[in-house]
Amino acid sequence: MYIENTINELKLKYENEPEFLQAVEEVFESARPLIEAHPEYEKADLLMRMAEPERMIRFRVVWTDDEGKVHTNVGYRCQFNGAIGPYKGGLRFQKNVNESIIKFLGFEQTYKNALTGLPIGGGKGGSDFDPSGKSDSEILRFCQSYMTALYRYIGADTDVPAGDMGVGKREIGYLFGQYRRLKGNFENGVLTGKGLSYGGSLIRPEATGYGAIYYLCEVLKHQNDTIGGKRIGVSGYGNVAWGIMKKAAELGAKVTYFSGPDGYVHDENGVITEEKIAFIEEMRKNDPMHCEPYAKKFGCEFVKGEKFWGVKDVDILMPAAVQNDVDLEHAKKIKESGVKYYIEVANMPTVYEALEYLRKQEGIIVAPSKAVNAGGVGVSALEMSQNAMRLHWTKEEVDEHLKKMMVNIHRESMEAAKEYGLGYDLVAGANIAGFKRVAEAMIEQGIF
Ligand code: GLU
Repeated sequence: MYIENTINELKLKYENEPEFLQAVEEVFESARPLIEAHPEYEKADLLMRMAEPERMIRFRVVWTDDEGKVHTNVGYRCQFNGAIGPYKGGLRFQKNVNESIIKFLGFEQTYKNALTGLPIGGGKGGSDFDPSGKSDSEILRFCQSYMTALYRYIGADTDVPAGDMGVGKREIGYLFGQYRRLKGNFENGVLTGKGLSYGGSLIRPEATGYGAIYYLCEVLKHQNDTIGGKRIGVSGYGNVAWGIMKKAAELGAKVTYFSGPDGYVHDENGVITEEKIAFIEEMRKNDPMHCEPYAKKFGCEFVKGEKFWGVKDVDILMPAAVQNDVDLEHAKKIKESGVKYYIEVANMPTVYEALEYLRKQEGIIVAPSKAVNAGGVGVSALEMSQNAMRLHWTKEEVDEHLKKMMVNIHRESMEAAKEYGLGYDLVAGANIAGFKRVAEAMIEQGIF
């Protein structure tokens, strides 16, 4: 009853934080066999401690637009769990950001980061600032104001933010510039996802997408299948989808469906040419809300306002856009379509009941986002190492590390599930493996 009691208590305490409750339930329920085998966890009140961020920082961010109008946003940084390393995780600038979203992402990040095998704790931050339609100088002023509030809480050994939705290389540059200005020191280990000229790592922009494909290759290998000729449906067309498209094309597969908030594109021939991939990158920079221009440019089908879950002419689905993108209705359609691989990429893209439903179905392999997308933050940790050593690794070196990391994550997840008699259950396996590492570190460090 320990798990049930904790979840019920959390539901009462945090009834207004649905995303956070969903993330906690998934991890605790999946790690059930491990938790039940360790009665000392209950004595140490471990689950409640794991569900409570070490620190949640909330601050005011005031900035002036190009017309001279003053705006006030809320900024957050959640330092969720530092048991295995400095807090590490991205910043999300998006209109819908609130405390529940930042907390759920910080919680997820903790177990994802543990899976990388590298010494990074879990954190997340962001703001309800809406970057769409903002000029470059507005973005600059916002980032400077945001960092002026945040800089005193972060550092290479304390907390290392990076990008997430709405925060890319440009924003990281502005944030780093302001940090350096305030501190008067060149401490580039304080942020990752930086430009190459001041300590960024090669392959970091591609890492999440590449890592997802490397992980997928391990799943396919396990099933005696191969990636060559596979048709992939990816939701989203951001940075992560871009990496997937590139690596899939390189390995002889093709992304034939992708989507945006405005609807989805079906390109039978696949997004495989450099021209198409570059067009998507440009389209995304100009307008993160509409992917229809691609269909117009390359003469393929665009379905307005719909999602493509349930289409029959794909082999692999990779939800790579936002949280809770796939609900139970979609999940049923996916099952009916006969698709064999459901590989989550975005953080928590599947509503809890939909994920539970898909996991129970025969003939469909479900892989969880916290394992599949861990290559992004994993390469961020490699960026931290390079900064600490004051050197640069080559593309090949970083890619080799990334590949090994994804192979290990898949293997460790598989072995963790097997150890508890769960078969090839990648969701349970990833949660058990990540949980175990964090739990061990917390227990060994005493009660606090
Ligand atoms: N926001 C990304 C993630 O969810 C990257 C975090 C990082 O590189 O620190 O993992």
